[in-house]
Amino acid sequence: MLSKRIPTVLPTLTPAESIETTRIYSALGRLKPGQPLMAKRPFRSPHHTISEAGLVGGGSTPTPGEISMAHNGVLFLDELPEFNRRTLEVLRQPLEDRVVTISRALNSTTFPANFMLVAALNPCPCGYRTDPRRECSCTPPQIERYMSKISGPLLDRIDLHVEVPAAEYKELASSIPGTSSASIRDQVLRARERQAARFVGLRILYNSQMSSKQLREFCKLDDAGMNLMKASVNEMGLSARAHDKVLRVSRTIADLDDSAEINLEHLSEAVNYRQLDRQIWQ
Ligand SMILES: [Zn+2]
Repeated sequence: MLSKRIPTVLPTLTPAESIETTRIYSALGRLKPGQPLMAKRPFRSPHHTISEAGLVGGGSTPTPGEISMAHNGVLFLDELPEFNRRTLEVLRQPLEDRVVTISRALNSTTFPANFMLVAALNPCPCGYRTDPRRECSCTPPQIERYMSKISGPLLDRIDLHVEVPAAEYKELASSIPGTSSASIRDQVLRARERQAARFVGLRILYNSQMSSKQLREFCKLDDAGMNLMKASVNEMGLSARAHDKVLRVSRTIADLDDSAEINLEHLSEAVNYRQLDRQIWQ
């Protein structure tokens, strides 16, 4: 449910984004009759039995796959460990480059693939490992085998790891409305404006695109922040990539909070999103 609603909190497609995404659907003959342009961000959720070519693109005449159909939108992979490990590994390059290149003997074709990857997985094969109300029936080797289907390098490329506990009945039945998509989108738009102002004259638009040099300039930490960062790297074994991700994410959390500085609260929240790096599965 949460994943499906992500496009509703994102800014609407710009005309340029709309044209890019439309071109992909048009090339695939997937535009609905009478639909000149894609108006909404795409949300793609392929089944875990999908082939490598279906996911990233391929074929003797290269055809865009799901990651290109999710361009400027969301690619949702439910039951992540059920996907073929090799199929998941091919996501690494497009996640870095935001395009996918399909090489053939005589030529190579590049398709746009700037998507937000959202994935869900159970804490163990039976699904009850973290649920206080049910008994988990999995053995440690079963859990290990299940988790090991997702490689460290792929996890490393995911910014936020969040545990979602099972909802209790009183929450499901509650009549108190949650935060609306519209109000979250306003917050997102303000954070985007802060980023646009920060990167004026630079060739980037978002915090996620900051280079290491830009991180040093725009994500300065105070002494307390530097100590927390040092402890996180040493104790959680964060990789260099994860370290940079934590800085970028903390900058975004500060932007959402309308704060010019990254304070300790922002940084600790960002560190908390690296849950899976802590090898909590063992
Ligand atoms: Zn279990």
